[in-house]
Amino acid sequence: MAANTVFWFLEQLSPSLCMACDAHVPKNTAFCAVCVASIERSTHIHSPFLYGGAVARALTKLKYEVRRDLGPMLGRLLVLGLGNALDERFDVVAPVPLHSDKLTERGYNQCVWLSRAVAHASAIEHDALLMRRTRNTEAQAQLGIRERETNVANAFTVRERRRVANRSVIVVDDVRTTGATLRACEMALYEADASRVRTLSLCLTPR
Ligand SMILES: [Zn+2]
Repeated sequence: MAANTVFWFLEQLSPSLCMACDAHVPKNTAFCAVCVASIERSTHIHSPFLYGGAVARALTKLKYEVRRDLGPMLGRLLVLGLGNALDERFDVVAPVPLHSDKLTERGYNQCVWLSRAVAHASAIEHDALLMRRTRNTEAQAQLGIRERETNVANAFTVRERRRVANRSVIVVDDVRTTGATLRACEMALYEADASRVRTLSLCLTPR
């Protein structure tokens, strides 16, 4: 990342431990210098960071080590990374939903912090319950590209069609790998007559 961008980001946040490696850092610093250097921008304007380094470590802690405190900070990182990428107006922002079994197991949907930060930054309505995951498709990581697409297709629905019909919607995921999950959400939203859909994620898996 460009140094001025990093400094801007560091000024916005105030943990006293590095979000990725837990090293002690000065107040108002999100990542230690080593971790900052590991953050890579992606070329996808709607998925601003490459999945890896400090961003991947912080996301892993949020998802698997119950580090809820990292949620708002990763949300702000997404907003920073997006910059002016959202140049159109949208009506509502929603996270990619977890299946209810997964939600019970983890206790929270990590994508909610990301979608909430986007909604807050753009002053758009946030609806964490806009969509529902009807099938538990969590084993995506073990699957190939084609299998992922099949596995996740039709896994999402909208809860209330009237909340989506004729509205423009942003849907937010943590990591975009093949894009299959976000495409499946997009299809479900268009099936419910969304007027326009934008898909965002914090990270893009490098190919
Ligand atoms: Zn660190």
